Amino acid sequence: MALLCTRAHVTNRLVALGKRQTWARAASAMPDVEHEPWSPPRTPVPDYDGWDAQLEADFLPRRSTHSKSYHQSRPPVSNPRAGIVDSVLDLVGQTPMIRLTRLSKELGISDEIDLIAKCEFFNAGGSVKDRVGLRMVEEAEKDKRIKPGDTLIEPTSGNTGIGLSLAGAVKGYNVVITMPMKMSEEKMNTMKALGAEIIRTPTEAAWDAPDSHITVAAELAEASPNAHVLDQYLNAGNPLAHYDGTAEEMLRQTGGEIDVVVMAAGTGGTVTGVGRKLKEVLPHVKVVAVDPVGSILAVPDNLNDYKRLEGYQVEGIGYDFIPTVLDRNIIDSWVKIDDDKAFDMARKMIRHEGLMVGGSSGSCMAGAYEYIKEHEAELKGKRVVILCADSIRNYMSKFLADEWMEEHDLPSRFGPADGEESPAESLMSKVREKKMSGLKGALDMGWLSQSEYEAACAALEK
Ligand code: PMP
Repeated sequence: MALLCTRAHVTNRLVALGKRQTWARAASAMPDVEHEPWSPPRTPVPDYDGWDAQLEADFLPRRSTHSKSYHQSRPPVSNPRAGIVDSVLDLVGQTPMIRLTRLSKELGISDEIDLIAKCEFFNAGGSVKDRVGLRMVEEAEKDKRIKPGDTLIEPTSGNTGIGLSLAGAVKGYNVVITMPMKMSEEKMNTMKALGAEIIRTPTEAAWDAPDSHITVAAELAEASPNAHVLDQYLNAGNPLAHYDGTAEEMLRQTGGEIDVVVMAAGTGGTVTGVGRKLKEVLPHVKVVAVDPVGSILAVPDNLNDYKRLEGYQVEGIGYDFIPTVLDRNIIDSWVKIDDDKAFDMARKMIRHEGLMVGGSSGSCMAGAYEYIKEHEAELKGKRVVILCADSIRNYMSKFLADEWMEEHDLPSRFGPADGEESPAESLMSKVREKKMSGLKGALDMGWLSQSEYEAACAALEK
């Protein structure tokens, strides 16, 4: 079986496609009759269109920790980092939460609002998607649909690919990743190091185009019964990893005290899984989702009108279709964030909190900032949690580099504000002054001629 998740709408599409192709072939056999030229059969891709009844039916029985109410008295989870673990996969999950007091101050957010980051970049492979890669493999193993030695093929913006490659390396699967050109070389090289093979696809290809990362993955999987697409866009393991993992941890870590949770959406697995669990346990929680300008995930749809489907640089979030694992009914508010705000905020998070986050964490925090500013009065005394999905490791040659920012017409705001002297500049001026005064002394003592003195001063000025 090529695609693991065979679904009724895929089948319908196949039937329709089959009829069209039979007609086209018959027509091409009659050259005098006007006909469409024959083209090779196209591999169908699933008809993603947001959360549906079939996914709900897949999701419910697979939950491992269904808590209707949350009790602070639950036993704490043992800390895997306190002792020796059997493999790096034991270090997926159990990520820390950090209070962002310094960033709040820098942004002028009221100190009566408790701003906390769930730091998913501490996962073993460096992102929130390690949880999903591992969970999808575990679910498929449980169902006996895959076995070590098989080939896992996954279309991804990179982090799910890293998570799968990590699980593949440890458990013994071959991994083939299809990934749009836009995504960083850092991600590609990380996956290569883990033993995966990477096929790059055009960034501009629409999700269901013949050369999209999704179609190419489906096509490859058709070539062998031992090749499988676990498909993060419709695999219940994706939101389940967050429902059972990320959200449960947040509840334990905060003692159940959360009022607002802000997450950036890609497949939507994080926002759906976390949002669903938190709302079941704490019905008052507001779920805020962040969608990059250019994407069309946000609701209402007119939020997406500005620069609709135009390209953007932030990686891992936003799409031109609605993944099945995204349940938009869970979300109370959407915020649209552009590259400029995302990267500026990511740099501020690094600079003021020492959080080594990637660009989508900047989008998430920038979205949280806009939400907080709009609801500041009612949020006093409340706790807002943001989720930081990945780290700068994935973007060392991208938004971390001033040259890249300039090349992409994005403001690079590291260092002092315009006209301000930096600490290093101030120290250098002091050293220069001291040397100048030494030279002046040497001139006064007659140890230097006037011209030697002037040449030495000019050299120092440089
Ligand atoms: N940020 C980054 C950097 C990601 O790679 C992803 C996953 N594509 C997300 C956020 C969003 O996660 P999800 O797919 O669960 O919506």
